[in-house]
Parts: sequence; structure tokens; C-alpha cells
Amino acid sequence: MTRIKDALDAVAAAVIARKDYLTSLDAKTGDGDHGLNMARGFRAAQEAVEEMDDTSQPGPVLQAVGKALIRNVGGAAGPLYGAGFVKAGEACDAETRLNVASIEKLLRAAIEAIQARGRAEKGDKTMLDVLIPIHDCFLPEHAEDKPLFEVLQEASKAAGEGVNYTKTIIARKGRASLVGERSIGIEDPGAVSSMIMYRALYQFLKR
Ligand code: ADP
Ligand code: MG
Ligand code: MG
Repeated sequence: MTRIKDALDAVAAAVIARKDYLTSLDAKTGDGDHGLNMARGFRAAQEAVEEMDDTSQPGPVLQAVGKALIRNVGGAAGPLYGAGFVKAGEACDAETRLNVASIEKLLRAAIEAIQARGRAEKGDKTMLDVLIPIHDCFLPEHAEDKPLFEVLQEASKAAGEGVNYTKTIIARKGRASLVGERSIGIEDPGAVSSMIMYRALYQFLKR
């Protein structure tokens, strides 16, 4: 099955297409490399997955993506996303199917890994301000008996709201925390890259 690889290609293409935008956002509050870092990381991830003999299982593919991000991206976000992909991959098994419960479990594993490494909370103006609201949509209390595609769509909306929320708050983690109040009014680059990745996956699944 090539579908997992195709999903990765869709996400990678979206990240690479927004490289300059992500970099320009990061230039306002950080060191202006987020798009470059993410594009480099996803190209490396695609190469790593290209070399795999068997891409039929999500677990090993997600782990290969994560390891490529950790190895090839110097900045803060690459190793954090990398740890998230590795742990999401470890949370998969041969029984893993695409549904609300499995997405909830994978996202939870990824967020736990990102928090274990980066020690950020919701409201610190990071990727977590998008990832946590996305994850919340898949929790049983929100997803109830809704069909998968309704939940996926709600999470896409939540991702956009998360990005907008980061505009209103001061960065407390990473390089942007150095500019203090000047980070208000500017969306967090990692929050934007999380939204881009999620929405690319959503668009891919909707096809
Ligand atoms: P660097 O800041 O090292 O240049 P990037 O520019 O690639 O790395 O990534 C910056 C992004 O990383 C931020 O916009 C933020 O979303 C995310 N980030 C930074 N520190 C943390 C952290 N401790 N926890 C979660 N995300 C973080
Ligand atoms: Mg940067
Ligand atoms: Mg950097």
C-alpha cells in the first residue's frame, strides 16, 4: 500500500510550498529559518521513506520520518516534531486503522513527546497551541459518535483558531521568547507549520 507514503508526500509538498512564508514569519520573532528547517527535514524524510522496502505499515514510516527530522534539522522545531513522529509511530501496530480513536492516540503520543522534550504548555505560543486543539477534537467527549470526516473538518478549523490565538499572546518558549511583547500580533511559525501539515493531511484524506 502506497497510501502512507502518498500522505507523507502531500504533507511534504505543502510544507515545502510554504517554506518562504514560514521563514518570513520566523524572521519577525526568531532567526528566520523555520521554513528552511522544515523543508530540509521533509525532503530528508521523503528520501528516508523512499529507501524503505516496506511502507505498508504506518508505524515504521512515521518513525523513519521522525528520525529524519531529528537527524537533519538543527533548530528547535525539527527535533520536537521528530520526537512526535517517532512516538506516534511507536503508538501504531498492525491493527492500526484510520479512525477517530487511532488519530487521538497518535496525536496524544506526539504531543506527550513534544512536551517531554520542550516543556511547553498550551499558551506558550508554540506548535502546541495548534496541536493540542487539534487533538482535543478527537477526544471522545468532543468526537462522540461523529463521523471521522466531520471530526477531521472540525480539527482543521481548530488549527486555524490555534494559529490566530498565537497572534494574541507572548512567546514563552524558544527564540521568540527573547523578543517579549514584540511577538504579539505575529503568529507563531511552528503553530503555522503544524496547521499546514494537518490541513495537507486532511485534504489528502478527503480526496
Ligand atoms: P529555532 O527557533 O531553533 O530556529 P525553528 O525556527 O525551526 O527553530 O522553530 C521555531 C518553532 O519551534 C517555534 O515557532 C515554536 O513553535 C517551536 N518551539 C520552540 N521551542 C519550543 C518548545 N519548547 N516546545 C514546543 N515548541 C517549541
Ligand atoms: Mg528559527
Ligand atoms: Mg534556528
